[in-house]
Amino acid sequence: RKAVIRITTGSQALDELLGGGIETLAITEAFGEFRSGKTQLAHTLCVSTQLPINLHGGNGKVAYIDTEGTFRPDRIVPIAERFGMDPSAVLDNIIYARAYTYEHQYNLLLGLAAKMSEEPFRLLVVDSVIALFRVDFSGRGELAERQQKLAQMLSRLTKIAEEFNIAVYMTNQVIADPGGGVFISDPKKPAGGHVLAHAATIRLMLRKGKGEQRVCKIFDAPNLPENVQIFQITPGGIAD
Ligand code: ATP
Ligand code: MG
Repeated sequence: RKAVIRITTGSQALDELLGGGIETLAITEAFGEFRSGKTQLAHTLCVSTQLPINLHGGNGKVAYIDTEGTFRPDRIVPIAERFGMDPSAVLDNIIYARAYTYEHQYNLLLGLAAKMSEEPFRLLVVDSVIALFRVDFSGRGELAERQQKLAQMLSRLTKIAEEFNIAVYMTNQVIADPGGGVFISDPKKPAGGHVLAHAATIRLMLRKGKGEQRVCKIFDAPNLPENVQIFQITPGGIAD
């Protein structure tokens, strides 16, 4: 049995909420409105994953699948400096791929899995996991097929997490809740339905607070105490 490694988010408050950081052998999902910090957290994890274990890192490489074209190598530089690491060495350890269709996204996963069997990776980012599915299956009658293909992709992510002791961090979009009533305080819910809900080990709901403050809540975990934490997006990445 592989041992779980917990990778720091850069925020002690957020780490506490997660029981020490984002976990390997698991899928962490973050969803929330635009600019809530999903991609900034991904960038921070790209760096913190490379920290040694005793500094709450994963001592490993990073694979990044970007479906929205929002990865910024320039952003990695100040984050690496904040953690006292050499930015160019950090960038060299991030394998980046841009996906343009859901099939492309799936094939990239297969290629990355081959790389992971050769080199010590600890983090796989998929930002966003669902955007291309929503584009490629936008027709009214295509939902069932979309969910089936999405399930296939998610099962691949689960396999990667378990086979290579990887922390999978995937982002998700929010959609208007057609049911209304149930979500009176927040009429939005994560996209992807039950298929996505079941694949995620832990679901983080992010929202904007004051200024650069952000609020994170564990979503839909009836057996965990209701818990909310505040973090900040800073030039050096996610912090308290
Ligand atoms: P989307 O749904 O649009 O993808 P997101 O949840 O991925 O949104 P992010 O891109 O992670 O959102 O967050 C963007 C926010 O991060 C900006 O609005 C800004 O507040 C903050 N931010 C980005 N870069 C910096 C920086 N260098 N220093 C401080 N804050 C920054
Ligand atoms: Mg984003």
